[in-house]
Amino acid sequence: MSRDMMSAFELYQPDSVQGAIDLLTKFGKDGWALAGGNDSFDWFKDRIKRPKYVVDLGGIAALKGIREVDGGVEIGALTTLTEIQNSEVIKSKYKVLADAAGRVASPQIRNSGTIGGNVCQDARCWYYRYGVNCYRAGGNTCFADTPQGQNREHCLFGASRCVAVTPSDTAPALVALDAKMVVLGSKGQREVKAEEFFIGPNVDIQRMTVLEKGEVLTAIKLPADWAGARFYFEKVADRNTWDFPLVNIAAAIKVSGAAGSEKIDAIRIAAGAVQCVPRRLTVVEEVVTGQPKTEDTAKLAGQSAVRGATPLNFNHFKIPLLQNLVTRAIRDA
Ligand SMILES: Cc1cc2nc3c(=O)[nH]c(=O)nc-3n(C[C@H](O)[C@H](O)[C@H](O)COP(=O)(O)OP(=O)(O)OC[C@H]3O[C@@H](n4cnc5c(N)ncnc54)[C@H](O)[C@@H]3O)c2cc1C
Ligand code: SF4
Repeated sequence: MSRDMMSAFELYQPDSVQGAIDLLTKFGKDGWALAGGNDSFDWFKDRIKRPKYVVDLGGIAALKGIREVDGGVEIGALTTLTEIQNSEVIKSKYKVLADAAGRVASPQIRNSGTIGGNVCQDARCWYYRYGVNCYRAGGNTCFADTPQGQNREHCLFGASRCVAVTPSDTAPALVALDAKMVVLGSKGQREVKAEEFFIGPNVDIQRMTVLEKGEVLTAIKLPADWAGARFYFEKVADRNTWDFPLVNIAAAIKVSGAAGSEKIDAIRIAAGAVQCVPRRLTVVEEVVTGQPKTEDTAKLAGQSAVRGATPLNFNHFKIPLLQNLVTRAIRDA
């Protein structure tokens, strides 16, 4: 009797970043970088992605750990979400990231899931994950954006043939913190701002990030500027056990003045699961900067966050959800 099995692949376990880059460059589109495997193994076991060569980054010590550098922090891409959630330095300087990491999935997934894998994970649209030949999979239809399509989890902004969203909880926190993503490939190293690292379907419908085949995210740098600011992270999901965000919000805010008469001096705020990329809410930032940190300002911020939202058939609920999360972020940070 023959059975349909997960496709075999050759496994490579380099112990240096350069070794990994060399292998991934050589394998090109047939290669796959593996971190904790939580996203990757779903694809492999469902037989939807069938790489010939898998390059396991897990043995590369240089990609792991949290280091204080120039008043900021550098996090190796292979650092687990549990380490970030529990790190004293992250909790004291960049609590928004510790909170976001702590809301990802389940403890078991956070123990093996890495920050690099969390920001590089693919879209969770069920049609795409089931292997249908939609735009993102190389076909010529979006099955979610039809009158009866299951699009409850999909986008409010930035649709461009594909209406999938970023499923990452840590990505909006990194945008709020103005993080820099360190990318290494055969052509050398570059640093990309977090908000430019994520790309929408208008740029490339088959990628979620700027990473080209053969490139590896090696580290994430959190700048000193936002260390110790006021922070807010909140995620709403269907269930409080492991589940992807319906909407999440991450904010970093600097205030001045005495309690009760505080003024917002600077802010960065981003929402996840409303667009294919973490949506930096620049309109909100403009509306609240220089304003008193009051209930009225918070309400105005919430209203401005949803301007231009274009819901699909089944995700109208995301509009008041986003509005309320933004209001709470400004009020309660
Ligand atoms: C049941 C379940 C529930 C989940 N719930 C949530 C949730 O609530 N919130 C949330 O944010 N996520 C959630 N996830 C996603 C999960 O957090 C991510 O899949 C996980 O963090 C990925 O990390 P990993 O190290 O296991 O990545 P892997 O599966 O190893 O990699 C994921 C992808 O990133 C690429 N990659 C990984 N590291 C690098 C690198 N350094 N450079 C270049 N490419 C790289 C891989 O090639 C692959 O394409 C859930 C996943 C599951 C299975
Ligand atoms: S939303 Fe994107 S991933 Fe989902 S079916 Fe449409 S094209 Fe495919």
